[in-house]
Amino acid sequence: MAHKTDIEIAREADKRPIQQIGERLGIPSEHLLPYGHDKAKVSQDFIDSVQDRPQGKLILVTAINPTPAGEGKTTTTVGLGDGLNAIGKNAAICIREASLGPNFGMKGGAAGGGYAQIVPMEDMNLHFTGDFHAITSAHNLLSAMIDNHIYWGNEQEIDVRRVVWRRVMDMNDRALRQVVTSLGGVANGFPAENGFDITVASEVMAILCLAKDLKDLERRLGDMIVAYRRDKSPVFARDIKADGAMTVLLKDAMQPNLVQTLENNPAFVHGGPFANIAHGCNSVIATTTALRLADYVVTEAGFGADLGAEKFMDIKCRKAGLSPACVVLVATVRAMKMNGGVAKDDLGTENVAAVKSGCANLGRHIENLKTFGVPVVVAINHFAGDTDAEIAQVQEFVTSQGSEAFVCKHWAQGSAGIEPLATRVAEIADSGRANFAPLYGDDMSLFDKIDTIARRIYRADEILADQKVRDQLREWEAQGYGNLPVCMAKTQYSFTTDPSRRGAPTGHSVPIREVRLSAGAGFVVVICGEIMTMPGLPRRPSAEAIRLNEAGQIEGLF
Ligand code: ADP
Ligand code: MG
Repeated sequence: MAHKTDIEIAREADKRPIQQIGERLGIPSEHLLPYGHDKAKVSQDFIDSVQDRPQGKLILVTAINPTPAGEGKTTTTVGLGDGLNAIGKNAAICIREASLGPNFGMKGGAAGGGYAQIVPMEDMNLHFTGDFHAITSAHNLLSAMIDNHIYWGNEQEIDVRRVVWRRVMDMNDRALRQVVTSLGGVANGFPAENGFDITVASEVMAILCLAKDLKDLERRLGDMIVAYRRDKSPVFARDIKADGAMTVLLKDAMQPNLVQTLENNPAFVHGGPFANIAHGCNSVIATTTALRLADYVVTEAGFGADLGAEKFMDIKCRKAGLSPACVVLVATVRAMKMNGGVAKDDLGTENVAAVKSGCANLGRHIENLKTFGVPVVVAINHFAGDTDAEIAQVQEFVTSQGSEAFVCKHWAQGSAGIEPLATRVAEIADSGRANFAPLYGDDMSLFDKIDTIARRIYRADEILADQKVRDQLREWEAQGYGNLPVCMAKTQYSFTTDPSRRGAPTGHSVPIREVRLSAGAGFVVVICGEIMTMPGLPRRPSAEAIRLNEAGQIEGLF
């Protein structure tokens, strides 16, 4: 049987005018700034006016280590939001916006899939409300102002060899990773090695997603380090006087976007920082606003729980004072099989033994998540080929770990397929059982923070770091950055730094290649292994299949 594609299902959606969705959350229409009929920004004035309201319950959706078989975190986030509404709860969803680069590359959409999607999915996957364009512009304004500052005499005495602020664009374009700027003579400035990152890797994106309000945004933008002087002292964006104009460019982008699910439930889609050199979840302002308007808020963190959930807890929740009430860990039979050593091409054959051995990966994530003090339930995202024996194996394993697993068929059935999980999640959230605490305290040394994550989450024996890295961390501590959380950048495919090591490995060490200070975002990035901040397109990019049909509709967008 041929399934409908995500875009075909999305096109058939019976969307309500966005004012009706806002009304469900009690947002008066004058506080919705509509972009067309089915998208709106929520006004800053309204957000300010609800700050004293009590907060709803926050539910995090995370997953096992991703495999090429696909897990379905976003699909499950959307499905669970619909499921909670279907059982009579007042629930909202918070997810990230999509980057154009991966959309035209190979990633697949960012709006969920099957009958658990956010619409309009075409808009959400393309220009949406222009937030990423605004971020790109703000970032590049600063780049231009730095070069201009140097051109007109370099009053700040920037060491032109130590400009660390690059440029960004929202496209996968490997040709721009390393470039030389200012060629062509005196009038064009001083030639320098330079390069582009993808917009979602910009520190401006991370800041937009962590800032409480516009004032906080402006302060953080000013705090960004853009270059160093000959004496190694940092030059801040504030020294270049770019923070004011950047804030102006980002004024509208700071307001969260409201859209709806296929089942007409409210969804905030706002911000989209990289999940490696940044923290990988939607904006604080969207989450805190949603929590003041809904009783339950379902949100997602990027990658597997070792990276995404850890950063959600230790960076976002810590900094925004959030406290999750329940974690939903998404697993699939297919991914369990891959973790159990089955090749992608053999996933169609029943293999209970491989499921059983692959469950080790799931088990470790359950254990890890419990150390944050938050109850964990497992969502088995059901795929058409899963057999009863394989599913029973996962359920049995999860039960043996003292947790519960629910088979969820939201991809095929929408909310009706996920009601048992929704019911349980609501019960857990209401029970007040969660007793959230981040993994480490603010006052622990930066090195010990990294060591704690490596040992307790990755289960490594040790971290390997050159004296240079250790000295750098100490220098930042001396400069007053010691209380920042750390933002780990490592492969999402394994607990280790080797992407091919699936399951639940032990006895490994975590080499630290480099550390970077994101002083505006407020974290220290710890790079373990190769990290790409400007992806390339694959041999056959999805862009080749994307086109307008005779009816003027978009085809090929998943
Ligand atoms: P993640 O957020 O974990 O990256 P998504 O939810 O975006 O994953 O899903 C990735 C892809 O897998 C989407 O194209 C989605 O339609 C597909 N998918 C998710 N769940 C299922 C399922 N149960 N059956 C078939 N395809 C699915
Ligand atoms: Mg996702």
